[in-house]
Amino acid sequence: MHRRYQDRASAPGSLGDVLRLIRSHGAVSRSGLARMTGLAPSTVALRVDALAAAGLVHEVGSIGALGDRRGRRVALDGSHGFVLAVDLGANHVRAAIADLTGAELADTGVLEHGVPLTGAVGARETVAQLWRRSVTLMRDSGLDPAALRAVAVGVPAPVAHPDDRLVAPSFAPDWDGIVLADLFAEHTAVPVLVENDANLIALAERSDQHEPEQSQLIAVKLGTRIGSGIIARGRLHRGIGGAAGELAHTAVDGTSAIGCTCGVPNCLESVASGGALIARLQKAGVAVTSTADLLALAAQGDPAVVDELRDAGVRIGRVLGVVVNFFNPKEIVLAGSMSAAPPLVSAIRSELYRMCLPLAADALEVRASRAAQDAAIRGASILALDEFLAPARVDELAGRAALRTASAG
Ligand SMILES: [Zn+2]
Repeated sequence: MHRRYQDRASAPGSLGDVLRLIRSHGAVSRSGLARMTGLAPSTVALRVDALAAAGLVHEVGSIGALGDRRGRRVALDGSHGFVLAVDLGANHVRAAIADLTGAELADTGVLEHGVPLTGAVGARETVAQLWRRSVTLMRDSGLDPAALRAVAVGVPAPVAHPDDRLVAPSFAPDWDGIVLADLFAEHTAVPVLVENDANLIALAERSDQHEPEQSQLIAVKLGTRIGSGIIARGRLHRGIGGAAGELAHTAVDGTSAIGCTCGVPNCLESVASGGALIARLQKAGVAVTSTADLLALAAQGDPAVVDELRDAGVRIGRVLGVVVNFFNPKEIVLAGSMSAAPPLVSAIRSELYRMCLPLAADALEVRASRAAQDAAIRGASILALDEFLAPARVDELAGRAALRTASAG
């Protein structure tokens, strides 16, 4: 059922669990690991040695006078491999590489041309060209493609779980039902994860790295379309089939300005997304073709645009008010190009606080994304690392190594 290792359980104190603690704490002493896991110091030493032998951790800090090692701590070793993160959009693609600690090694930046995205060439050819572009990025950065450990690809569409199938992708309607991971598998044997881009933004915005289970947030991507991702107790919540967070297809007051594949009449996205605003303003004779145009006109105080943004903000805020009462998150994070429109954001805030219970509002912080331009690609790196370093995966590899050792002996 669970194709992803990161969704599988791992026993407390196992090799994978010890690696998880080291990863979430940055650098930790052996005695700290013993305290956190309840393992005997000798068992901690065995675990750390096995992880070091696998190239996953190393010791940092100085050895004191007379060889005193008490200042030494164990940290993730980022140097034995890297992950590839891809952000695929309606009109752009971006690829980036991060080491195993998540530090960025290379980034193509946003490419508006260079990889044909949809239409004539089909998904297989798009993936083939994307792969070639990624290998070039690795080589240009002095990285050996053989050291690639995992790939994560963000798409602006729902992704069904557990099979990672694209569902009615509005950015490429002819890709409906396509499993991008299978197309990548024609080029690489490493795990390839495909994820909704709003889910990746939510992962990138997950805070409290030391206590990730404290993180409870909803990231809302406001762009041409509207998407959202949910972090519940530090983990991405996809729901049973991958549809969690599809709040954009809630029926709202107002009239659709664009079509939507969801079939819900007057859904939030068809009434209040950037694309809906553009369509409605065009009909009214305003020269606007992109969300960048909307932002520019809003900055000039264009009254028709400001009115549309305020109305849209009220509708989005009202839906989020329901979501906040239901989920009681700590944070609502606003991301995507439209989150840079002040009239939209202030209307969302005031309507949201007006519509939710004081008990839910008291703990709530509504904030802008910390890295609006980079959140999706950062989230893809995190997802790829979460998979490669997943406790259940490390446990399984350790089990296989132990079997090999036993049969060799
Ligand atoms: Zn819809």
